[in-house]
Amino acid sequence: MSFTFQIDTTFTDKLPADPVAHNVPRQVMGACYSWVQPKPVQQPKLLIHSPEVAELLDLNDEDCHSDLFTQVFSGNALLDGMKPYAMCYGGHQFGNWAGQLGDGRAMTIADIINSKGERWSLQLKGAGKTPYSRNADGLAVLRSSIREFLCSEAMFHLGVPTTRALSLCATGDQVWRDMFYDGHPEYEPGAVVCRVAPSFLRFGSFEIFAARNDLKTLKTLLDFTITTYFPHLIEDNITTDTYAKWFAEVCDTTKDMIVHWQRVGFVHGVMNTDNMSIHGLTIDYGPYGWLEDYNPDWTPNTTDAQFHRYAYGKQPSIAHWNLMKLAQAIAPLFDSVEALQTILNDYATQYKSAWQDMMRQKLGLKTFDEALVEQLMNNLERIETDMTIFFRKLADISAQNTIEQCIQTISPAFYDTSWQNKASEVWQAWFEDYLGQLKSHAVDNRKAAMNQVNPKFVLRNYLAQLAIDKANEGDLSMLHELFEVLKRPYAEQPQFEAQYAQKRPDWAKEKAGCSMLSCSS
Ligand code: AMP
Ligand code: MG
Repeated sequence: MSFTFQIDTTFTDKLPADPVAHNVPRQVMGACYSWVQPKPVQQPKLLIHSPEVAELLDLNDEDCHSDLFTQVFSGNALLDGMKPYAMCYGGHQFGNWAGQLGDGRAMTIADIINSKGERWSLQLKGAGKTPYSRNADGLAVLRSSIREFLCSEAMFHLGVPTTRALSLCATGDQVWRDMFYDGHPEYEPGAVVCRVAPSFLRFGSFEIFAARNDLKTLKTLLDFTITTYFPHLIEDNITTDTYAKWFAEVCDTTKDMIVHWQRVGFVHGVMNTDNMSIHGLTIDYGPYGWLEDYNPDWTPNTTDAQFHRYAYGKQPSIAHWNLMKLAQAIAPLFDSVEALQTILNDYATQYKSAWQDMMRQKLGLKTFDEALVEQLMNNLERIETDMTIFFRKLADISAQNTIEQCIQTISPAFYDTSWQNKASEVWQAWFEDYLGQLKSHAVDNRKAAMNQVNPKFVLRNYLAQLAIDKANEGDLSMLHELFEVLKRPYAEQPQFEAQYAQKRPDWAKEKAGCSMLSCSS
């Protein structure tokens, strides 16, 4: 049994394996991974797959519609050469060292090299227990799996670095879940997503060995990581200078990822260091959400309701903090931490300049103007304004418009129905300034340029929930339609506007799944 891709075992060949074969929750010492087996499922059914990701893996349409595909990507069968493993990692959760975490509900079924020579790692999420499952079941439910599948592909098409999703299978099994950890568990339909990335190494993959003072494994893992995934950084051989360059690259790609999140209004929700990819990819789609009204203090994660540690506006500084934890983890391999310190300090400056450039583009201007942007953010916050609709509509404004016309143009973005009174006050001054800037230094082809950075279609929280509600009733039409629409987030797609490019309806404001999610999501 096989598909045409070439399975590559470098990861498991080169890194130390857990010598204990028992698949029971425990501390795994001195090893980067444990051998595991997916849990067979009762009635696997492929609900949706991504042809774009299939192509990356050299899988054709026929492969994707085969029974073998469903069996393999639901965890019921293994192809020749597949030897599944779960990775050992630790992490800082909500600012505190949490010790060993690891792939508790994910397992890599294969690493492959495709026909273009690219490396891809294939993980099943929700395929049963591993030594890292602690007291949980290793399973995933349909609602969270739909959220992961849809969002990772939507992010990719938005141009945001992300892990990908190949497939979503229902398992036919029931999973016992307490959605809000409030003592009301229920059975929910189980599902398995196959997610795909160059590797699933996280900041926490390095932190675990530093925390255990296992510098030998730490060095083995870092040397392996650089050799395998960052070979361009090696000149003659690997030295501490190479480590520093590697850390600088992780800082750089992380910075780019966060700038993209801020651009599209994505809130990750659980930026623990175990959820930070060393490739600067958005990873671990749990209680994430999309900004509706512009509110920097908003987080969708009810587990973070008290401190809002991972709110939209804090993502840049949290990423910085997480990078500091990664620097601390690899610091024991250095004689002096000065190089790491300098790189870390540079993150703040580089983030600021990348963010300013992104905001300049969102506004369609040739230069960044601090006062203009600051006033804009104040306005967006003061009058409950839909961020996505606002920026999209802004492209329709022309330098010749009157201020009244400008306000009229952006008015569909206001949630607050009393906007007319308040809006004229706060927007008057801003549009005077903006129109002035448009006259003197708008970018060429401004509307087209703005529409390439300001999406029309994002995975609004309530849309994901509606697709989930329908799927739970057996109707997959919305899941499939949303998936297609979100592949072209910057295109006008007028036929989908009424359904998919509207402000959040009032009923969704406080509804579970729409604005409130927990880590069980
Ligand atoms: P997450 O919140 O998804 O980043 O998960 C944090 C840790 O909890 C990771 O080690 C996960 O593997 C583990 N985990 C989360 N949910 C489950 C589950 N249902 N079964 C086993 N482990 C889980
Ligand atoms: Mg995680």
